[in-house]
Amino acid sequence: NYTALLPPCRSAKQTQAGTAQIGLAGPRPGAGQADGPAVIPPAPNPPVAALPRIKALPAAVANQIAAGEVIERPASVIKELIENSIDAAATRINIDLEQAGLSLIRVRDNGQGIHRDDLALALKAHATSKLRAFADLAHIASLGFRGEALPSIASVSRFVLTARPAGAEQAWAIDNTLAIRPAAHLPGATVEVRDLFYATPARRRFLKSEKTEYLHIKAMIRAIALSHCHVTFTARHNEQWLFRLPAFPDAPEKRILGVCGKPFVDQAIRVDIKKHDLRLWGWLGHGEAARSQSDRQYFYVNGRPVRDRHINHAIRLAYGGRLAAARFPAYVLQLELAPARVDVNVHPAKAEVRFAETRQVHDFIYTELMRQLNAPLVAAPGPGPETKTGRPPAGKAVRDSAAPYAGGLFRAGGGPSIAPGKDCLSLLDGRFLVATIGQAPYLIEVAPARRLLTQDYLARHYAKAAIIQRPILVPVSVELDADQLACALAHTDIIKQWGFELEQIAPARIMIRAIPARLAEADTIALVKSLLRALRQDRDQSAIARALAAHSNDAGYPPSGEHSRQLLREIDAYDAGRGATGLPWRKLDGATLSALIRR
Ligand code: ADP
Ligand code: MG
Repeated sequence: NYTALLPPCRSAKQTQAGTAQIGLAGPRPGAGQADGPAVIPPAPNPPVAALPRIKALPAAVANQIAAGEVIERPASVIKELIENSIDAAATRINIDLEQAGLSLIRVRDNGQGIHRDDLALALKAHATSKLRAFADLAHIASLGFRGEALPSIASVSRFVLTARPAGAEQAWAIDNTLAIRPAAHLPGATVEVRDLFYATPARRRFLKSEKTEYLHIKAMIRAIALSHCHVTFTARHNEQWLFRLPAFPDAPEKRILGVCGKPFVDQAIRVDIKKHDLRLWGWLGHGEAARSQSDRQYFYVNGRPVRDRHINHAIRLAYGGRLAAARFPAYVLQLELAPARVDVNVHPAKAEVRFAETRQVHDFIYTELMRQLNAPLVAAPGPGPETKTGRPPAGKAVRDSAAPYAGGLFRAGGGPSIAPGKDCLSLLDGRFLVATIGQAPYLIEVAPARRLLTQDYLARHYAKAAIIQRPILVPVSVELDADQLACALAHTDIIKQWGFELEQIAPARIMIRAIPARLAEADTIALVKSLLRALRQDRDQSAIARALAAHSNDAGYPPSGEHSRQLLREIDAYDAGRGATGLPWRKLDGATLSALIRR
């Protein structure tokens, strides 16, 4: 019944009329007829209020209601239209906008077009060419599947869809009235949306300023373009160029360059990790490249841009102490997994997904990204070609190499790392760091140095009750014996002061909700058990700090560029305070070096 899809202005009136009818409906036939033969005396209660009857909504109203969910703002319209073009296998998508999409959004593509006889169906709710049965959702490869976007958009705008399949002699156009007329168009499709929300003033009032909507649009086009580098995108706003992004089917880094800029690509670590049947690939910005806004965080699940708090948490956790407070890491990451393991049908605008095994996905992202961020600094044998492309030197990483610095320092599995010559860092045998601290060369044994500095940090900050906590979003639960539990319950305040948050959740089980941020990379359960052991043995503060600091190398990775630099700063500060004997580092002055050689 297509005639139900009427222009929105008319449907708005219909709604009112419908409401009025329901509200004023007279008494139900047969109810409370006091003037009939009085066999039963009339009930003392007031007459039954008119009971509204149930009616199916006209399609136009149903679509406007769906539009409330699917189409939040102009950027949502653009998202749906671009996704349709991509689903139609387009390789060129041209976008024209006026007034931040409020007066015009036009998306033109060279995709497979729509058959004339299907045009009306494209505007009907729950009509789609992408899905036949519910089971298809388990292996959906297209971006759309709900069949809701076009009817929703059409119900809140002045809408024209023009399409021509390859091989068709001519194009046909359909508008809100469902009238179909011949049109001129190359093979492909164009959707033109004018005066968005003119029929739903409430939504229009909720929109932010034109400037804000414009920024949303830009962010949306960027997000989609980043994960579809085989498509050429152009976008104009008020006749000015917004984007001109040529297709690079085989060189995604060029698209990243076009969207995120050279500084991002130059410093980013290129990751590509496969484990079990999960694959995570893309560009991971250094902690140093973190921004004051979360505007460069792109995460895709099977090519779909999504926001997911578990994923965000895993990424944040992987950066750990590398991020200063209120700084946001920058990244473009793609997670790929079997479609059956992720439910994409949980959000009307498809902006969220649900994983079958959230914990596994979370831990995979966290551990692998942390590993990448922590990958050791290694001296590359020469200025490799990897510098230019930002690709990982697959398999060629010189792990733990003692090769002398020549040409630049590289991260195993990543792009260029520290600016050559700045700190003149070099990692020997995976254990020792050679670096300059304030002009002087130092030799540092990394693991014990970290332990000592962590212990120092914990002891000093405990005294000031200033240890920074890091909450664990997916908390870990652990079974305790009676002594451990009694200890945990007896020392709640002290435990808190050490930066932990533990909660009893069963007679012999606690939940670890937070640990000291400084030890974010420690083995959480082992760390908590060490704390409880030290507390039970009534150790003093410095012994407890030592017991905790023993976990500072749990992750076992040689230090990353930033870790090393922090290490150097801390060594500097530590040395300034005390005499330097018996420490896991040594200033390499002339006397020390010649003594070493003569020995
Ligand atoms: P969905 O994308 O969920 O299928 P839509 O309402 O977005 O639902 O689109 C309805 C149908 O219209 C699609 O299934 C598709 O067959 C067709 N369609 C929409 N846009 C295009 C396009 N740009 N090119 C070709 N076909 C399109
Ligand atoms: Mg769609």
